[in-house]
Amino acid sequence: MNLLPVVIIGAGPIGLAMAAKLAVRNIPFSLFEKGQTAGSSIKEWGHVNVFTPWEMNVDEDAKTLLLECGWTPPKNDEIACGKKIYENYLLPLSQVPAIKANLHTQAEIVQVVRHNLDKTSIELRKNTPFKVTFKDTQSDQNNTLLARAVIDASGVWNSPNPIGVDGFHVPGEQENASYISYGIPDISGKDKTKYVGKKVLVVGSGHSAMASLFALDNLHENDPSTEVIWAMRRGKILNNLSDKNTDAIKARGELNSALPNLISKEHISVLAPSRISAIKKVTNGLDVEINVNGETMNVNVDFIIVSTGFRPETGFISELQYQLDPVWEAPLYLVDLINPHLHSCGSVPNHGVKQLYHPEPDFFIVGHKSYGRAPTFLMKTGYEQLNSIANHIEKGEEIEPSIKTETRSCSI
Ligand SMILES: Cc1cc2nc3c(=O)[nH]c(=O)nc-3n(C[C@H](O)[C@H](O)[C@H](O)COP(=O)(O)OP(=O)(O)OC[C@H]3O[C@@H](n4cnc5c(N)ncnc54)[C@H](O)[C@@H]3O)c2cc1C
Repeated sequence: MNLLPVVIIGAGPIGLAMAAKLAVRNIPFSLFEKGQTAGSSIKEWGHVNVFTPWEMNVDEDAKTLLLECGWTPPKNDEIACGKKIYENYLLPLSQVPAIKANLHTQAEIVQVVRHNLDKTSIELRKNTPFKVTFKDTQSDQNNTLLARAVIDASGVWNSPNPIGVDGFHVPGEQENASYISYGIPDISGKDKTKYVGKKVLVVGSGHSAMASLFALDNLHENDPSTEVIWAMRRGKILNNLSDKNTDAIKARGELNSALPNLISKEHISVLAPSRISAIKKVTNGLDVEINVNGETMNVNVDFIIVSTGFRPETGFISELQYQLDPVWEAPLYLVDLINPHLHSCGSVPNHGVKQLYHPEPDFFIVGHKSYGRAPTFLMKTGYEQLNSIANHIEKGEEIEPSIKTETRSCSI
């Protein structure tokens, strides 16, 4: 088994850092990325400024490998956008010889199983290799390899939540997909002409929604006919928001502090608590049926931006014995530490294999995906997860899962 590689799924910051940690320990690995290059998801939100400074975004083992290749580290306290992280960190890291030689791009993992065992087989799992199937996205051909361990660092960026408060698409959402964007569109850059002078409905109450509001407000300065409707399920926006004096992450606190002034502006209306029930294409845009505070109304808009969070994709690991919390879809023993009702990004304590435990031996979900539907993930805590996993793989010790705590009930 020890001669087989560790398979890492996804070459985002976490998958690449895992590769770096295995490389410095001389443990063989194969890193699979479905995009054209490493960092494919971050590249898609390259226009967004992250909240955390460089020192929190760079992994220590990755830094060691990069410095050996003559890398110039960015200033610790600088705030970068996704594009800078991609160009100045992830891409160079993927080119470090020890990683480049084991990185397979345009290779999508489509199945992970225990070789010749089904999910109900309890015996033999620990001593049976994983069989990993990946699709070459250029030729559409499937290939397989055996692995001693599998680290799923595939993120959540590709599975955004739909508009419906029940977790499904609302009628008309899929039919009108060309008028609807998920995540954070590049409103100040390549998508500017699309949104300027338009009426835009922003759905969601988190920082991604807020980032779109601020960008649309800037467009209003160019063209005063730009209007924004902000719809959120929650009734209160500011209740739990820390500000520039109290937030553990300065840039996020500053954004929160600027929000009351933003939403007091005439061209921004807030509908809360609200629930969208249907979308219909009409000659002058989209008619959106929305229930606000118990009353149903119709609003007419040109475009919708949906920032209602993400969920983990589990299809390709469905034959493994993984174990997720029924509410947040994070590993069961981790969920108390990341529960967004108890923690914000920045207050999640360091954790490792004991919290990331699954009944499936030597299988771990890490990085953004390990937080399931919780939006509290930071790269820094992800790197800490990996230190623990790399040590575990190196030493091969049994894992005693951490005992769940009383705070569990708060997540429901
Ligand atoms: C807009 C935004 C702002 C954020 N700001 C911050 C911040 O300020 N600070 C911070 O610390 N964190 C921030 N985060 C959270 C988090 O750190 C990032 O999302 C980070 O990119 C997560 O890293 P990851 O490697 O877990 O996942 P990703 O970066 O999503 O990487 C996953 C990779 O896996 C690939 N992949 C997916 N499925 C497969 C498959 N089946 N086979 C092969 N490859 C696959 C994807 O193409 C992708 O390249 C932010 C997130 C977002 C979306």
